[in-house]
Amino acid sequence: MLRERGAQRSRKGAGRMFSRVLIANRGEIALRIIRACRELGIEPVCVYSEADRGAPYLRLADQAICIGPGPAKESYLNVSRIISAAEVANVDAIHPGYGFLSERADFARVCRDCKIEFIGPSPEAMARLGDKVACKRAAKEAKVPIFPGSDGAIEDEDEAVKVASKIGYPVIIKAAAGGGGRGMRVCHNEATLRSNLKQAAQEAQAAFGNGAVFIEKFLEHARHVEVQVLGDKHGHAIHLYERDCSIQRRHQKLVEEAPAPNLDRKRREAVCESAARLIREAKYAGAATVEFLMDAKQNFYMLEVNTRVQVEHPVTEQITGVDIVKEMIRIAAGEPLRFRQRDIATRGHAIECRINAEDPERKFMPSPGPVDRFEPPGGPGVRLDTHVVTGYTVPPNYDSMIAKLIVHADDRRQAITRMARALREFRVDPIKTTIPLHRQLMENSQFIEGGVDIHFLDRLLK
Ligand code: ADP
Repeated sequence: MLRERGAQRSRKGAGRMFSRVLIANRGEIALRIIRACRELGIEPVCVYSEADRGAPYLRLADQAICIGPGPAKESYLNVSRIISAAEVANVDAIHPGYGFLSERADFARVCRDCKIEFIGPSPEAMARLGDKVACKRAAKEAKVPIFPGSDGAIEDEDEAVKVASKIGYPVIIKAAAGGGGRGMRVCHNEATLRSNLKQAAQEAQAAFGNGAVFIEKFLEHARHVEVQVLGDKHGHAIHLYERDCSIQRRHQKLVEEAPAPNLDRKRREAVCESAARLIREAKYAGAATVEFLMDAKQNFYMLEVNTRVQVEHPVTEQITGVDIVKEMIRIAAGEPLRFRQRDIATRGHAIECRINAEDPERKFMPSPGPVDRFEPPGGPGVRLDTHVVTGYTVPPNYDSMIAKLIVHADDRRQAITRMARALREFRVDPIKTTIPLHRQLMENSQFIEGGVDIHFLDRLLK
């Protein structure tokens, strides 16, 4: 599955591995990073908010430091408190996980100023690829297909109307700094475009602190296909193949799988190579995900680049055998990539279901609270990434994802059967979760055929 370069080569030009790393995150991803640190012989240090006090994963860290009250702004998003904790614990590096400060170039810059390695790209590379408008420019230069649309941020209404009539309706308005599926508006004609523009800019300013918006062609019946890439500080970049994340609810992913089903071999190579080319040319060091939408003819267009580890990284780990979180740490420590592209092969099929503390029957209303009974699934080919145990209380303050159930099998059919089996074993009581919805999905014939698009789930739930 995976051939590493010889030990001799791996040490060539290597930096010094960190001895202590601070994890600026919480929940399952904090635990995932603790595990990677331990396997690399690094001492993990956690930070936590008052809402997470007593969380079981904190005991696995060498040190756990309280950084403030529950609201993220006063804790996990508070740069000075996190930097103070890093200085008190005397760490060499900070891993930001996903969400929170992971895509904040200003935070990466503060780390650099404090001589703490940020486990992620440089602030410059993050600005180059993390901003959607700048990223489209970089993609154009690297000859990566992008959506037809405005060349940069839209300056005024008339300009937007001009672009829209050139590319044709429907179009989508997006925030340059957007994320998490928020702040996007689909417009089917000139009137809705005009009436939505100003509001979209105001919303973007309020949500992301940056009011820049742009428009692009809105693709109907598209699939979401994304490519995992790794770049090092020595100019090497490779891809770890693709994932399909078309099962989404209101632009939020719910099920992810690798490889993408029914993807033509040549298309697969083309999309993966273009992703690797983009980060190579952008001199990007770290892990990233290049996201694309794919039409029915398997033409692909880049959406954006996520400059951090993704929630769905485990499906790629399962089929390639590469530990993405450990590679991120090695890259940040200055080690050259240990694989060439030809060393990466994929085996079998992996699927991930996001288990959220939400009630699918009540419009996915959050369902926090105490977990009196937590019975995890197990057996061959099952991986569960979670920080939850019996007796844990899901706090209401944060994202509702409480576990990621990942299965790996020889092919897609067997992976679906295995997932259905694991979901049947999984019990989380008395809070409501997305488990019943996933069970329903694993029996859905359209899903089983691999013929879904990004609006499939919204249609199913209507
Ligand atoms: P975010 O950064 O907020 O996640 P993305 O640009 O990654 O935003 O888009 C998220 C989702 O929104 C996509 O997976 C897709 O479902 C939908 N989307 C975004 N752009 C388009 C488009 N041009 N046409 C159709 N759907 C789109």
